[in-house]
Amino acid sequence: MITVDEALGLVLRHAKPLSARPVAAAEALGHVLAEDIVSDVDSPPYDKSMVDGYAVRSADLVGGRAELRLIEEIVAGSIPSRAVTAGGCTRIMTGAPVPDGADAVVMVERSGVAGPANDLIRIDVERLRAKQNILPRATSLRRGDVVLKIGRTLRPVELGLLAEVGRTTIRAIPAPRVAVLSTGNELVPAERAPVGSQIRNSNGPMLAAAVRRAGGIAVELGVARDEAGELRAKLAAGLECDVLVISGGVSAGVLDLVPGMLRELGVEEVFHKVRIKPGKPLWFGKRDRADGSATLVFGLPGNPVSSLVCFELFARPAMRHLSGKPGNSPVPTFMATLASDFTHRGDRPTYHPAQLELDGGQRQATVRPLEWAGSADLRGFARADALIVFPAGDRHYTAGETVSTISLDG
Ligand code: AMP
Ligand code: MG
Repeated sequence: MITVDEALGLVLRHAKPLSARPVAAAEALGHVLAEDIVSDVDSPPYDKSMVDGYAVRSADLVGGRAELRLIEEIVAGSIPSRAVTAGGCTRIMTGAPVPDGADAVVMVERSGVAGPANDLIRIDVERLRAKQNILPRATSLRRGDVVLKIGRTLRPVELGLLAEVGRTTIRAIPAPRVAVLSTGNELVPAERAPVGSQIRNSNGPMLAAAVRRAGGIAVELGVARDEAGELRAKLAAGLECDVLVISGGVSAGVLDLVPGMLRELGVEEVFHKVRIKPGKPLWFGKRDRADGSATLVFGLPGNPVSSLVCFELFARPAMRHLSGKPGNSPVPTFMATLASDFTHRGDRPTYHPAQLELDGGQRQATVRPLEWAGSADLRGFARADALIVFPAGDRHYTAGETVSTISLDG
């Protein structure tokens, strides 16, 4: 049986970035840019006031004081019609263009209205530097500047910048389309009350959500019964996507038809079974497409916790690669201090649910192994925000030891 690292290596070897294509900026959060972005504007487009106050000529202020004639009022979005000349000033709002003649803006807090007609402004500042409170034209960017480079992952701030330079469509690596299929005669949808030996399909909604959280587009195919015709049709539909994630039907039961049916549909098996707990029956394969890309197929074990752990450890890093984000550490692992004793038994490494206890004062996170009834215990697993990786072999771990940990959130 191959190890987790070997399995992940095989998965990633087959996960090539998808071809870039035009993507609406509004849909591009988390995508990787496939072009350099050039500004079509100066920002700011004019010398701009950074405060509400009065645009003045600094030479008019003797010792920081003056009484100036108010000649105009300018708000953001309007254009000054008059230049400020000696002894004059313009009332100006944040973001408005500074009028010609003025070389500084005094904050409104440093002024008062004088004179019966409210047209005399008294200024009293400690010190006024030329250019004070003015952001000169093109300080932040100049027309023709490359503001974002190819390869950048788009966060909200980059989407703001794209809007600033007028880009509503960009070339980017698209989000992978990931089909999610649950298999099993026993499954009914969440809205139905199970009868007899039925159970509700928890994997379907859970894996679809995991796909979305990982930045993919989930294509929910519902449930296929363990029956050749239905399974073939639904698997074939799923193979149209970039990734097909199947839950159940990959173990050694008489109705575990998934690997055989995938082979029949031309999916080449890369590995079946991994030395891991939970998740040993994991199946992985790929089917090449005419354009040189491939559909990656994950046959996840049916037990909900196995299914989710395998998704996070193998399918999610694959999705990152498809999205153009190779990264060094596909599954971010860090060392944490064990908060309580734990006895590990078993000949496979165990990814045990745990709770992180982060404390700002500590240099290293503390992690507490949770009580957990195994791979069908989704309720117990729901209390976890991390996995502790206990290596294969029987061993008692004592509180205070350092253990390898994986964060499940984010
Ligand atoms: P299998 O891998 O198909 O042998 O399923 C293993 C266990 O997981 C069985 O107890 C199944 O009933 C359960 N199971 C399979 N698929 C799901 C699902 N979609 N939701 C909840 N439990 C499931
Ligand atoms: Mg089954």
